[in-house]
Amino acid sequence: MGRVVLKFGGTSVGTIEKIKKTADQAIREFEKGNQVIVVVSAMGKSTDRLVDMALEISEHPSKREMDMLLSTGEQITISLLSMAIHEKNYEAVSYTGWQAGITTEPVASNARILDIDTEMIQAALDKGQIVIVAGFQGVSGEGEITTLGRGGSDTTAVALAAALEADKCSICTDVVGVFTTDPRYVKNARKLSQVTYDEMLELANLGAGVLHPRAVEYAKNYRIPLEVRASHEIEVGTMIEEEMTVENTKVVRGIAFEDKITRVTIHWDKKRKHARIKSFYNARRSQY
Ligand code: ADP
Ligand code: ASP
Ligand code: MG
Repeated sequence: MGRVVLKFGGTSVGTIEKIKKTADQAIREFEKGNQVIVVVSAMGKSTDRLVDMALEISEHPSKREMDMLLSTGEQITISLLSMAIHEKNYEAVSYTGWQAGITTEPVASNARILDIDTEMIQAALDKGQIVIVAGFQGVSGEGEITTLGRGGSDTTAVALAAALEADKCSICTDVVGVFTTDPRYVKNARKLSQVTYDEMLELANLGAGVLHPRAVEYAKNYRIPLEVRASHEIEVGTMIEEEMTVENTKVVRGIAFEDKITRVTIHWDKKRKHARIKSFYNARRSQY
């Protein structure tokens, strides 16, 4: 029997219809004879909406309360997905980060996972249940709810795959794989069939938002075969692993960029003999 971790991002669970489709995917993996752990994000753009609500109340909301607030988004998805699986007459159970045994650093809004106690998940898997875990969250040693940084559900998935010694971790998203650059901006970007951990780490760290950088770090450190593929389409995605069999001769594998950054150009004003801001470009990067 195999063991797989599937992760579905916000767009992939953005509507009830998509949650039902996600339930079908989980059941399909289960029917192949696998133990299945599903990690999900908050529905659609709901995390952004939660951030906006907090900012309507306070310009500088307490970080602890932000974690408390943002962790609720994923909790909605796990319960709905579990219900959708029950409706199809399969057993499923949903767990928040702390129920899933995910302990993190005591750092609000960008905590690292320190340890995962898999006992509860293991017991549910042994009972034949599909286990659904809220991404992007954990609990600190002091019992505080923490979040792992925006996009952190990828990290939850890979960390669980490592702790549970899963055979594979599939990141199911709104693109069919990792491309040479962001296909949303560059229409003729090419899908890569394979990428090494180091190449992916570099792309992710430089802003290729398709994977959370810490997720790639985990995958590399624990040698987890990581797949990026489309959520609700049957198309082979991109494998991120150590060994490369094809396309391994290229020096440049892809181009990453960030779009929400501020560029300030300063020049020296000879007449007045002091520095002046020449141009100020783009919106300030969001804090959350
Ligand atoms: P999810 O909600 O599933 O976590 P994300 O929005 O975090 O999805 O990541 C998927 C997005 O990453 C794609 O829609 C795409 O615009 C963007 N992206 C950036 N760089 C790349 C790349 N090199 N290859 C594929 N997608 C990329
Ligand atoms: N819901 C969180 C976010 O929007 C985490 C995630 O989607 O991975 O950033
Ligand atoms: Mg993401």
